[in-house]
Amino acid sequence: MEDHYDIIVVGAGVAGLSTALAGVEQLVEAGTEDISIAVLERSSREMRGGSSRWTGAYLRMADGSTVSDNFIEDMMAFSEGYSDEKIVRRLAAEAPDALDWLGQQGVAFEHLPTIFLTAARPRLLPVGGGKAVVERLADKVESYGVEILYETAFQRLVYEDGRLAGIEVGTPQGTALLKTKAVVLASGGFEGNPEMLARYFPHPVHRLRNISPGGEHNKGEGIEAALAVGAKPAGEFNSFHAEPVDPRSRMPEAVVMLFPYGILVNKLGVRFADEGEETIDETYERISRSFLTQPGQTAYCICDQRVFEIPNYHHALGTDAEPVTAATPEELAEKLGLPKAALRDTIENYNKACAQNATAAFLPLRKDGNAARGIAPGKSNWAMPLTKLPYVAWPLVCSIVFTYGGIATDTESQVLDRDDRPIPGLYAAGEITGLYYGKYPGATSFLRGAVYGRIAGRNAANFVADRG
Ligand SMILES: Cc1cc2nc3c(=O)[nH]c(=O)nc-3n(C[C@H](O)[C@H](O)[C@H](O)COP(=O)(O)OP(=O)(O)OC[C@H]3O[C@@H](n4cnc5c(N)ncnc54)[C@H](O)[C@@H]3O)c2cc1C
Repeated sequence: MEDHYDIIVVGAGVAGLSTALAGVEQLVEAGTEDISIAVLERSSREMRGGSSRWTGAYLRMADGSTVSDNFIEDMMAFSEGYSDEKIVRRLAAEAPDALDWLGQQGVAFEHLPTIFLTAARPRLLPVGGGKAVVERLADKVESYGVEILYETAFQRLVYEDGRLAGIEVGTPQGTALLKTKAVVLASGGFEGNPEMLARYFPHPVHRLRNISPGGEHNKGEGIEAALAVGAKPAGEFNSFHAEPVDPRSRMPEAVVMLFPYGILVNKLGVRFADEGEETIDETYERISRSFLTQPGQTAYCICDQRVFEIPNYHHALGTDAEPVTAATPEELAEKLGLPKAALRDTIENYNKACAQNATAAFLPLRKDGNAARGIAPGKSNWAMPLTKLPYVAWPLVCSIVFTYGGIATDTESQVLDRDDRPIPGLYAAGEITGLYYGKYPGATSFLRGAVYGRIAGRNAANFVADRG
């Protein structure tokens, strides 16, 4: 099989669909509708949307036209200055416009409850989550006659006489060559490729869970293909965005974000983190990653009945598995498979440290200064003794939301080579681009998909129109 499309977009997540829609809008506006665009998608139509489909898609926005305070400063500080500041600045500058554009496609935004009962920065959410965005964009793209080729997986870039000439794809019918003039890679990270994860990550990866079925489709071919033609790598290849999930649940994003109100212990029945150091939106990622260095890469969140008095506590529970309940530390240890004496000592010592130091009223929705000191590690906030029995506990493992390592692009979404020169005809947007290092600045990844997808779409359309 051999076919031709002027522009091929790889991936039908928020980045790829924003690319395709902005591209076709640009072509219509310029009166060059004869230029053809195709979107390739590895999944079936029903599962389209990649990770974007499964996310609540929190956006780091104060409102539809203003990014959250310190947007640029936070992104640069969290990466210790390693993120490309030019990319961050354009993201901040164009985020309001991208939201306005998504609004024109029929997406509504509201300040809805999130999984974080306490948060340092506001988040705006699309009503219906990422799925609503993906479905609106895909319908719109198709309404322009753009083909979305499902169950078609990009494999490699094909060059002829030094010029980008096409791509090789895998389909249920076999391998095919699609000829093209421009390619936009928007195929996500490599969270769905255990071999790549093992190549880059420092710890065993077989216990790492993908947080949603979407990530399973992201196997990193786009990254490898771009690197193979000389693209520059960017982003922290041996790190990823993490969330704590209940391994018993098969739900997407089966999080338990209640540990600030209790304790976290490992398989030895011992605490290993300050559960209340900061608001949970600032700590959950680091704490989730710390599970990877605990025995069996597993932790247990133990609370008492006080947790159910916290307003909207259920928003912090994505798991559909019931908590383990027990009237005594020994019974809890038995049920969780933990050493009894160690867990009893941990709870007793923690309760004593809370009783000695608690000064203020328990204020679950902001940092309340109730600290547990004189134990190691201490706890900085929400340290209330676990005395409202029975205990409730959830097992937790670290899940992978998306990988950080990817390819370098400039602010025009052009893929850069290792001398920082754009590779002609090759663009990339979304998770496939390497931006993050260290701590993830929450609620920016979906946004960058929309912002840089639109930029990629417009530029690819211009590139092909100029080339004739
Ligand atoms: C549960 C969950 C919660 C999240 N929460 C947030 C949040 O609140 N805020 C936020 O900003 N971010 C969040 N994220 C991250 C964010 O959703 C993603 O980083 C972003 O949506 C990625 O968009 P994308 O278009 O780059 O990739 P994706 O949406 O993953 O799309 C990539 C597409 O490419 C396809 N594909 C992959 N390889 C190939 C191939 N070889 N050939 C053809 N197609 C291919 C995939 O099937 C997929 O459809 C969350 C992610 C998850 C899973």
